Amino acid sequence: MRDFTSQRAHGVDASGIRKVFDLAAKMKDPINFSIGLPDFDVPDIAKEAAIEAIRGGNNRYTQTQGIAPLRERLRKDLSAEIGRDVGDVLITSGVSGGLFLAILATIDPGDEAIFLDPYFVMYKHLLTMAGGKPVIVDSYPDFRFHADRVEKALTPKTKLLILNSPSNPTGVVMSREEVAAAVEIARRHNLLIVSDEIYEPFLYGEGSGFGVQGSGNPNSAISNQTSASSVEPHSALPSPAKLYENTLILRGFSKSHAMTGWRLGYAAGPAEVVAQMTKLQQYTFVCAPSAFQYAALKALDVPMQSAVDAYRKKRDIIADRLSKKFEIVKPQGAFYIFPKAPGGQTASEFVARAIENNVLIIPGNVFSERDTHFRISYATTDEKIEKGCEILCKLAS
Ligand code: PMP
Repeated sequence: MRDFTSQRAHGVDASGIRKVFDLAAKMKDPINFSIGLPDFDVPDIAKEAAIEAIRGGNNRYTQTQGIAPLRERLRKDLSAEIGRDVGDVLITSGVSGGLFLAILATIDPGDEAIFLDPYFVMYKHLLTMAGGKPVIVDSYPDFRFHADRVEKALTPKTKLLILNSPSNPTGVVMSREEVAAAVEIARRHNLLIVSDEIYEPFLYGEGSGFGVQGSGNPNSAISNQTSASSVEPHSALPSPAKLYENTLILRGFSKSHAMTGWRLGYAAGPAEVVAQMTKLQQYTFVCAPSAFQYAALKALDVPMQSAVDAYRKKRDIIADRLSKKFEIVKPQGAFYIFPKAPGGQTASEFVARAIENNVLIIPGNVFSERDTHFRISYATTDEKIEKGCEILCKLAS
């Protein structure tokens, strides 16, 4: 039979994550540290607004760029935060939709895009699909932005620098100095920065930097890569857009308001890029889901600080418990931590043992060229975090 599938499809290798799903399918009521979404529910106000929007007849296509009140509100808020008018905002089908359109709108075959390893999986695959070249810069063991390593990866074909802060899977937040260094490189080499800021609301500040200091535990095996810049507390995200106009900001509602299934994100940046993305959206997604755009507008007025505070506490628990047996970099944002597999095991080996003991974690090679670390999403109850850490620490003994 003729193979109807494309080389483009075959060029994408999603085997890593599939293996994890296969293993997970066999587990009964696991301690699930694999899920990349908050454990709180969509705020009631937003649910009511979605229902009202559907009842009120907002069930048709919206304008491709999204409904005007949402776009205007986001433009106003984002401009106030960034310190200049950010221009037209495009409402996308999740940040995934924004990433897809951004890469389609900017990458010609052979163009190169730099991002750090470990990385959010989609970057690599979307670039491959578009015929571009993912250029992956190692950021182990501290997961920081090392300007010298990025410099070495530049070629005349480099077009994009993709940044993700707070990061999935490490939870690291770029410091102001690191952002300034990234912008300096981008300016000098005329690059577009694609800034994936989907975890922007999840910032925990933290004077204690990296590694759990002062835990008083002599056995503590912590990567203690503290630098002056990395201990700075964050009250607002140091976005590269504040320093550099050629930044495409991608944000969304999936994580901030637990609406992963509602498929809402937004993009703002250089006018020509946003215009091309809007045109491409017309022929792909058409528009983001109508009723949920109305609901998102209402959701913007719901204070989410208590959720962030709850996640800060979870971060503190997990960093404290795991630091007793694992090498960790203490996260400053998002809801992930990326510890090193203990005792020279590969991450895949350790993950298999964790799964045998009913704890579902993801091996680092899903997010990385290395198989040395594993990802925990701690967006779960404090009790499950305690229990899961206890099991993992036992396995590491
Ligand atoms: N970027 C990052 C870093 C993510 O972790 C995710 C979701 N896990 C996305 C983008 C896509 O999110 P969504 O499409 O749900 O907005």
